[in-house]
Amino acid sequence: MILLLSNSLVLVGILILLGSLFTVRRIILSLPKGRSRRSWLAMASLIALFVLGYLGYVGIFWAKHEAAIDLIVPGVFFFGACFVWLSTLLSLQTAMDIMHVTRLEKESFTDPLTGVYNRRYMEQRLQEEIAKARRYKFDLSLLLFDLDHFKFINDKHGHQAGDKVLVDMSTLVVHELRDTDILARYGGEEFLAIVPNTSPADANSLAERLRKRIEGHTFFVGPVADESEEIKLTVSIGVSSYGGSTTSQESLIHTADKNLYRAKDQGRNRVVADNSV
Ligand code: GH3
Ligand code: MG
Ligand code: MG
Repeated sequence: MILLLSNSLVLVGILILLGSLFTVRRIILSLPKGRSRRSWLAMASLIALFVLGYLGYVGIFWAKHEAAIDLIVPGVFFFGACFVWLSTLLSLQTAMDIMHVTRLEKESFTDPLTGVYNRRYMEQRLQEEIAKARRYKFDLSLLLFDLDHFKFINDKHGHQAGDKVLVDMSTLVVHELRDTDILARYGGEEFLAIVPNTSPADANSLAERLRKRIEGHTFFVGPVADESEEIKLTVSIGVSSYGGSTTSQESLIHTADKNLYRAKDQGRNRVVADNSV
């Protein structure tokens, strides 16, 4: 009886350790390459060593357990395996929970179509950037983009093609901006870039550069590069800068919006950066 029990404890311990290896594998696959991944690989090697140790023990002591006291070591082996299993299971659960929260957090501040920031996040960041501009006398400018005749693109190429243009255009703009700039989808085909530490003159040049960049780009909306699916696009941009009577979130956006309206009025595909409106 003692013999059967002690051998069973170690053998079940081995099975539990092998189960833990599968859990560790799932943890490793869920982690990006880096230090944590390497640490879990080391953990997997240790568990594999434990399995070999347990097997060695079973081989040597297979028929040598007679008294109740001989159950102590197999018992420790068994509960040790349970401990490893529980630790790996809890680690996997924690990793999954963290990933879930991170995804929810990311979704709460990004636009699902284009992946740029959403309007809510933009408003929050704009308040922060205004506070910095006020406190440290930093420059701060806004660029409000509206795609020209976008309805025509939807009508001619379809809504899906229109969506792809929105995605490609925002990617293009993100690449042109600095890492510290914030691009957000302000409305359907309107985007707002918050550009901190940028004077009115620099914001105007940046807007001009972006306008030309978009004008010169060819957007492909078909599955393959097919000329009939090539789209040329222009944007109108209204610029506003922190300073004078334009120091609140409302006045900055209002000024950019007024300038955008003027750009449309003056024929589109242009930048208006008049801070006196
Ligand atoms: P304007 O030069 O005056 O800005 O002309 P416009 O056609 O771009 O302006 P309008 O505001 O009349 O139309 C905007 C269009 O943008 C209409 C709407 O269907 C389209 N739009 C808004 N959001 C999306 C979107 O998420 N996907 C697609 N494909 N189209 C969108
Ligand atoms: Mg619009
Ligand atoms: Mg438009």
